Amino acid sequence: MKGDAIMSFSRGPKEPVQEVDTKVWACTNEECQGWMRESYSFEEEPKCPLCQSSMNQETRVLPELK
Ligand SMILES: [Zn+2]
Repeated sequence: MKGDAIMSFSRGPKEPVQEVDTKVWACTNEECQGWMRESYSFEEEPKCPLCQSSMNQETRVLPELK
């Protein structure tokens, strides 16, 4: 029944967020946790927004952005 389908959809558990390999820039400063998604940076080689250190590109598994 149509009504039942809508009910179970709105009540059901949330779909798990899919995790995907994501390219990020990670701060090279060991005391700093700064990093950003590559897709959020507009520079070739961004500086850490927290400490202005240089950043290394790496891949992390992160929840997918829709
Ligand atoms: Zn930093």
